[in-house]
Amino acid sequence: MSSNVENVVIIGTGCAGLTAAIYTARANLNPLVIEGPMPGGQLTTTSEVENFPGFPHGVDGFQLTQNMREQATRFGTRFEQAMVTAVDFNSMPRKLILGDRTILAKTVIVATGASPRMTGIPGEKELYGGKGVTTCATCDGAFYRKMEVAVLGGGDSAAEEALFLTRFASKVYLVHRRDTLRASKIMADRATSHDKIQMVWDSVPVEVLGVDAGAVSGLKVKHVKTGAETVLPVKGVFVAIGHVPNTGPFAPALQVDEGGYFKPQPGSQVQTNVPGVYVAGDCSDHVYRQAITAAGMGCQAAIEAERWLAEHGG
Ligand code: NAP
Repeated sequence: MSSNVENVVIIGTGCAGLTAAIYTARANLNPLVIEGPMPGGQLTTTSEVENFPGFPHGVDGFQLTQNMREQATRFGTRFEQAMVTAVDFNSMPRKLILGDRTILAKTVIVATGASPRMTGIPGEKELYGGKGVTTCATCDGAFYRKMEVAVLGGGDSAAEEALFLTRFASKVYLVHRRDTLRASKIMADRATSHDKIQMVWDSVPVEVLGVDAGAVSGLKVKHVKTGAETVLPVKGVFVAIGHVPNTGPFAPALQVDEGGYFKPQPGSQVQTNVPGVYVAGDCSDHVYRQAITAAGMGCQAAIEAERWLAEHGG
């Protein structure tokens, strides 16, 4: 175990974690950021971000997180690639366990984000990753030039994925279990009026076909009102049905709600049940879930950590 005690350890490098890094580094706290399996977080899988203030013509999601990282680095943030597997928040300093080693920290900001939710239908797992089932149009869309693809879901992510895929695919089926989209009006209007997007309303996916051949050959869907099953002749299935928060290694030390999201203390968005330990971004926010709100929570957590260190000896 290292005897070095960090002032602040930030876990996660999405908008929330990187904003917390910018603020704590600029406050001379010399933060250490633990970077997990998805550097930059969910924003890196988005194409154009049109609603982040300060970018009147939009900004590429990957570029936006790169800029934040550069800004955090400029003030002295240190980055380390590792996975936090367990924590001990009963002791002081707090203990973060990363496989076979332990990091000691006076304050901790958990900004671990959320991971894509999967449907669990047959064929999905078997054909995930390079075989036709994916959760990222920005990453994989270009592989489906002149092919038919399906997007699952009815939220902003599904609408955005479907619209992005129209650049490559010959046709995009947007499969949604209801007859209205949950997506914001502007995204819903764009998706439903696009001539390459065909809405498949009131339908749930039943099976991804092609397991034996090792590549997606179709998607079986079922109409929820009639029970009729049809096969969409697609080569790609893009799953965009929401996310699950990455809170596993921190519970039950940190309280979570019934959905698994961190549950901040009443009157605060970022203070947890453990003094000096804060949460920020999509791991604790199931309401707004925007890049700008995650950044705002990262800022709040950083300021709280700074105050805690000032009061308790930084
Ligand atoms: P979401 O808003 O939670 O939507 C998930 C969609 O998947 C819903 O339409 C839901 O159907 C459907 N769904 C959930 N579980 C399903 C299942 N097992 N089988 C079939 N369908 C299922 O998630 P999201 O689209 O990822 O968006 C998350 C947040 O990020 C939102 O706040 C959104 O506004 C934001 N976001 C914003 C932008 C942007 O502003 N450009 C882009 C992406 C995301 P129901 O509608 O029936 O519940």
